[in-house]
Amino acid sequence: MPAQGKHRRPTPRRFGRAAAVATVGGAALALPLIGAGGAQAATAHTYTVKAGDSLSKIAKAENVEGGWKKLYEGNKSVIGGDAGLIKPGQKLTLDGGSAKAATTAAKQASTSTASFVKPVDGTTGTPYHQNGSMWSSGYHTGTDFVVPTGTPIKAVAAGTVVSAGDGGAYGNQVVIQHADGHYSQYAHLSSLGVSAGQAVSAGTQIGLSGATGNVTGPHLHFEIRTTPDYGSDIDPVAYLRQHGVSL
Ligand SMILES: [Zn+2]
Repeated sequence: MPAQGKHRRPTPRRFGRAAAVATVGGAALALPLIGAGGAQAATAHTYTVKAGDSLSKIAKAENVEGGWKKLYEGNKSVIGGDAGLIKPGQKLTLDGGSAKAATTAAKQASTSTASFVKPVDGTTGTPYHQNGSMWSSGYHTGTDFVVPTGTPIKAVAAGTVVSAGDGGAYGNQVVIQHADGHYSQYAHLSSLGVSAGQAVSAGTQIGLSGATGNVTGPHLHFEIRTTPDYGSDIDPVAYLRQHGVSL
């Protein structure tokens, strides 16, 4: 028997798992936008001078871009002609400081959208869209990772488990919905570690690899889809690479 871990021709059986699909709130995971709101907050950001303060101390503590000179320029009408004379109780505008805070928030937001991981530690086998009569669609709808049974399988990104159970030809499988509207599928697992409705993070272990369903050997079959269902697949390797995963 060949042991490359490929699929056999699937039975024509439908994957009757609609009943196992949990309802997942549509765009509930949308990230907050950094934009007009942040700019408004910037104009409203002020600092009240305390005893012992100096412009350079405030500029440093509040991360004012341009330092104390910029802070002085923006507050000349309050401070007066001598930058060394500020008095407790004076209210200074910290435009530069807020702009920096907004930049930091934007940086954090982009970091969180970029946190994707590989579904399993292993090399890819049968690629996406390889033609073959062994697949009911006429081509391979995912990409395979060649791993022995029992290898930890991880969610590629944060999301909500849509289904976890028997996927017919896919054996034990997990489908996860992600914030960008895409779904990831993990098939042929030997055991499942999550259940429908569960929230997961990037890297959460969702089960162990195996050889359940129509296979000739153990491997992970991995898909990215635009719906929870078979037939809406897109190139999973390209998708992961777009999100910073090296494969
Ligand atoms: Zn496959």
